[in-house]
Amino acid sequence: MPAPVLCASCAARRAALRRPKTGQALCRDCFVAAFEAEVHGTVTAARLFRAGETVAIGASGGKDSTVLAHVLRLLNERHGYGLRLLLLSVDEGIAGYRDDSLAAVRRNRGRLGLPLHVVSYQELYGWSMDRIARHVGPRNNCTFCGVFRRQALDRGAALLGADKIATGHNADDIAETVLMNFLRGDVGRLRRCAEILTGGEGALPRCKPLKHAYEKEIVLYAYFQGLDYFSTECVYAPNAYRGHARALLKDLEATRPSTVADLVHSGERLAVREDVRMPTQGTCQRCGYLSSQPLCKACVLLEGLNRGLPRLGIGKPSRLQKALLDGEKCVPLAILAGLVRSCKLEPLKSRKCPTPGDVAGV
Ligand code: SF4
Repeated sequence: MPAPVLCASCAARRAALRRPKTGQALCRDCFVAAFEAEVHGTVTAARLFRAGETVAIGASGGKDSTVLAHVLRLLNERHGYGLRLLLLSVDEGIAGYRDDSLAAVRRNRGRLGLPLHVVSYQELYGWSMDRIARHVGPRNNCTFCGVFRRQALDRGAALLGADKIATGHNADDIAETVLMNFLRGDVGRLRRCAEILTGGEGALPRCKPLKHAYEKEIVLYAYFQGLDYFSTECVYAPNAYRGHARALLKDLEATRPSTVADLVHSGERLAVREDVRMPTQGTCQRCGYLSSQPLCKACVLLEGLNRGLPRLGIGKPSRLQKALLDGEKCVPLAILAGLVRSCKLEPLKSRKCPTPGDVAGV
């Protein structure tokens, strides 16, 4: 029988895991302490919060936002951040997914002792995601959902008088986004996506306190702390482009374990040449939300849904925006032709969330 591996930090207890981020063998207590200390280090190094601020935590009921809410509440008390924390959930209207994950958020509200506010697509836009999916078909659902969710969180946070939104994006999410924006050649988003604090200039600031936390370590932390979260994947996720970036990232990670951190670092270090034209921020002429076009993406997508042309807002926006602003009842055929191009990517196999057993490594 091989001798049990001792914790590399306290050298007293048996190691319960090998940290995916550092390879260190740690016991449960030392891992939990290291994880919390690192999130605190991220918060203080980037000066994410100021005392007295109201912070709306985007709470989906999944592992990332559940860990975020738990750790932020704990660090707020432990280190006296002086924050007023709230939970803010978005109900996209996805039966069998969001209704169940919101039930987890409601259970955590009691445990955390934080107020919860829920905004829904149905009340904000008059459409649920399930209804949108029936109109749009199996592809591009995440385009609608992502655009609507971003606005819904901003609107909900503004309603609550929040100064900032904290989201549960982790290092793997950011690495995937860097990869996706690179593959799409989206320089504007590529430059912003690795920033820990975004917004300002009229938008509510958003921050990512788990920016340097690996997904696998979030799963382990949730397990060791006995957190209650919802781990089923969204029914529309297998068709999402992000899934392909995730699969590529996992392949790269298998041969080079530091891939996640490397990609986050690449995103941070990216410099855009001064002569590259970047989108300029203005406000949507219809709803007043921040937009680099005369109409924001949400208004264009909504217009398409309401006209019975759900693919209207997918693709290049310029001529379509002009047609809508000019009040044309019919969108020119040439524009519509461009909108019916179909994506060639095949759906990915459904991806299960990693379990603590998958990632403990000792
Ligand atoms: Fe929305 Fe797509 Fe995420 Fe499902 S997978 S919740 S449709 S963004």
